[in-house]
Amino acid sequence: MSNKWVYLFEEVSDAEKYAGNWEGARALLGGKGANLGEMTRIGVPVPPGLTVTTEACNAYLENNNQFPEGMWEQELEAMKAVEKSTGKKFGDKGNPLLVSCRSGAKFSMPGMMDTVLNIGLNDEVAEGMVELTEDARFVYDAYRRLVHMFGSVVLGIDDEAFEHPLDEYKEKKGYKLDTEMIAEDWKALTEMYKAVIKEQMGFDFPQDPYEQLKLATEAVFKSWNGKRAIDYRNAAGIAHDLGTGVNIQTMVFGNMGDTSGTGVAFTRDPATGENVNYGDYLMNAQGEDVVAGIRNTKKIAEMSADSPAAYKEFLAICDKLENHYKEMQDVEFTIERGKLWMLQTRDGKRTAKAIVKIAVDMTNEGLITKEQAIKRVKPSDVDTLLHPQFDFEAKKAAQEEGKQFASGVNASPGAAVGRVYFDADTAEKMAKEEGQDVIMVRPFTKPDDVHGMLAAKGILTSEGGATSHAAVVARQFGVPCVVGASMVRINLEARRMMAGDVVVNEGDWISVDGTTGEVFLGEIPTSSPSLEEQTELMTLLSWADEISSTEGIREFPKEWPTRGLQVWANADYPADARRARSYGAQGIGLCRTEHMFFEPERLPIVQDMILAGDDVAARQAALDKLLPYQRADFDGLFEAMTGLPVIIRLIDPPLHEFMPDERELLEEVIGARVKGEELPEKEALLSDIEALHESNPMMGLRGVRLSVMMPEIVSMQVRAIFEAAADVKLRGFEPKPEVMIPLTGHVNELHFIQPKLEEIAAAVMKEKGVEFEYKFGTMIEIPRAGLTADQVAETAEFFSFGTNDLTQFTFGYSRDDAERNFLVKYVEDGILPLNPFQTIDRDGVGQLMKLTVEKGRSTRPELECGICGEHGGDPNSIEWCHMIGLNYVSCSPFRVPVARLAAAHAALTHNAKK
Ligand code: PEP
Ligand code: MG
Repeated sequence: MSNKWVYLFEEVSDAEKYAGNWEGARALLGGKGANLGEMTRIGVPVPPGLTVTTEACNAYLENNNQFPEGMWEQELEAMKAVEKSTGKKFGDKGNPLLVSCRSGAKFSMPGMMDTVLNIGLNDEVAEGMVELTEDARFVYDAYRRLVHMFGSVVLGIDDEAFEHPLDEYKEKKGYKLDTEMIAEDWKALTEMYKAVIKEQMGFDFPQDPYEQLKLATEAVFKSWNGKRAIDYRNAAGIAHDLGTGVNIQTMVFGNMGDTSGTGVAFTRDPATGENVNYGDYLMNAQGEDVVAGIRNTKKIAEMSADSPAAYKEFLAICDKLENHYKEMQDVEFTIERGKLWMLQTRDGKRTAKAIVKIAVDMTNEGLITKEQAIKRVKPSDVDTLLHPQFDFEAKKAAQEEGKQFASGVNASPGAAVGRVYFDADTAEKMAKEEGQDVIMVRPFTKPDDVHGMLAAKGILTSEGGATSHAAVVARQFGVPCVVGASMVRINLEARRMMAGDVVVNEGDWISVDGTTGEVFLGEIPTSSPSLEEQTELMTLLSWADEISSTEGIREFPKEWPTRGLQVWANADYPADARRARSYGAQGIGLCRTEHMFFEPERLPIVQDMILAGDDVAARQAALDKLLPYQRADFDGLFEAMTGLPVIIRLIDPPLHEFMPDERELLEEVIGARVKGEELPEKEALLSDIEALHESNPMMGLRGVRLSVMMPEIVSMQVRAIFEAAADVKLRGFEPKPEVMIPLTGHVNELHFIQPKLEEIAAAVMKEKGVEFEYKFGTMIEIPRAGLTADQVAETAEFFSFGTNDLTQFTFGYSRDDAERNFLVKYVEDGILPLNPFQTIDRDGVGQLMKLTVEKGRSTRPELECGICGEHGGDPNSIEWCHMIGLNYVSCSPFRVPVARLAAAHAALTHNAKK
């Protein structure tokens, strides 16, 4: 480990050299410190300062809260260098240097860590500064801020102990705003604050500036292990052993009169992604005044009038930072007497919509490549964009009926409907324990509210702006959020809120539109936004497809696919298929034909067919009635998917699923018997159903076994498939049917049934006088089929992994009961790392899949292999499917965009060309 614990901002290159690369420098100095160094390096005006490393933090925490050897000496030495470059002196009343102390971990953790400003002020320095600045009000305002922050952040005294005396003081004086406080008032308050420290801690506020600096440094170190920091890291998936850096930086003041000011801004709009500066500033103010929402902030563009030269420079710096980082930046700045200083820059948090728009725009602007754009967007971002919005007409109606309750800043988009709860604990409890949809409502949020915010469907605050804590956290986690709805008065004690004379009590329903900032009474129905309207997302996904379709990115034997994965969809009906196609699906990977049997006009026919028993003629009569229905279903599917493959699976579930419930029927029959009545038809039905009873139906007469026992059903289905395909072909479309036999365990099952079905296919084509491509293949759902895949592939022309059943049979866990009975506990306790029904278990089921593909293709090298279980839409599983050489993944139409992105990610991560 290095013995260099402290780096000046201008020593960032040394830090990078020591750490090996920029990522290492960020880990060593923390994101904020590294960026302050980087800004210094590229010539952006940054007040001089130093960073104490994350290694020092870790050493301190490991070493029983003792600074590591040499660290404090290095900090003192670095302070000397800062004094030299500023020409000021720490603790010197004649020419004082004041510094801030801020935390900064590798990943930004908004609001989680603590800041102390104006370190270096004491009674004597304050007096000196009054003489220098001739502005006693400014000096004592700064001093009381130091004593307050030092008391709360460093010494851990409750904020309330400082806020209360201020409120009381203002009330006594008849002031409404802090701006009415004069020098004497702040001076008096500083003394009151010192008394608070003395009373609560038993010692005086330290007058020695170096003592202040030392304690502040320690406080930042300790805050790494504070509860709210740990909670945030848990929620955001940040490792707990990274540690935080400490940044000590020369103070510059935005409250030195009308030529000074301060602001926070994003280089692009973080809600929409528009390429416009977005943020707030205030003249004659300090940083926290902007975010606290006490004074009305101004929009950044107005700065061109208030401070034209600084504004021009600010815009140029924003461009420079974006060009340098190739990312949208979130910056803090201060203008001190007309001179602009940048205090911080970091990659800006943004909504999913903005993530996609900025990635696409930056690619078009030539700042980043398509590959980088794709990598910047997470599958979950795409998911968020396909999230519900309020139904347009229903919202309009709510507006017309006067149901709008309030409006505020549209901080995080999306529609949320839920019941109102006024604190984080209750919100979390209602969501988790009662399963309620919850809207968390607060005046403003704090870091220790995050658990409630994450559990909520939506968030509403009456205070704060677009950069407030609530807004930043909500955007990051994709929770719809409206902030600063200032007409709302919240009464936390009475558990209600009011706007005008409309009252909303805790537990009442409201609807929050994070996209527009409106809040409505009651529940407004939601609908999903269409993908077609989201042009940037469509563009991004087309780039994803380009990446996935690049030949040669997978290094496999030559007949295997060497491009990335295609994305197909599971769709049963033509409308689903059309949606899937519009979402970019390149085929249908699973049409579950039995779903069509459940429709009301068909179910009785299906039941007649089942009940026909040995009466072959009766069964055939029922099947003849079903055939036109099935043909019509398939016709629509083939037409919708013209030119693309459509895999139709033959009947799979056990027949009892189509019959009335055995228990209900039994109760009816017994009830009748008790009353001395007879229900001969129901009795017969009951005995037929009893005859179908199996102890383990999932392992019973289903799938291909059913076809072996009753070939008439699948014969009808295959006839319907080929008649439909022929009709569609005759109408000028291009059907590509693939017939899939489910639940094969032994190749002999295929030997038994497949030739019969192929004969029907050939006969129909002959009857209709048309030819088209088709395939017969099987699902791989039974481990034995996978283990003998070389034999199975002799007959099957394609494989599709039914990973729902394959997981069930490989683990021996019932897919219907496992979650309820033990699986959740297994995952919680770490017995299993993930739920194997959601994410493919790579070590077990995944290995079986890999072996199956290899064995199958050893017999039939060009064997088409895909997946149609639920895992086909899961990004982690998609990566595995890429690695083992599948041709495609198939998932629900709504997951198709997510899967397209995940397929491109897999192609980029495992790119054989690089
Ligand atoms: C599967 O088992 O993964 C599958 C797709 O089939 P089903 O879910 O219909 O059993
Ligand atoms: Mg299955």
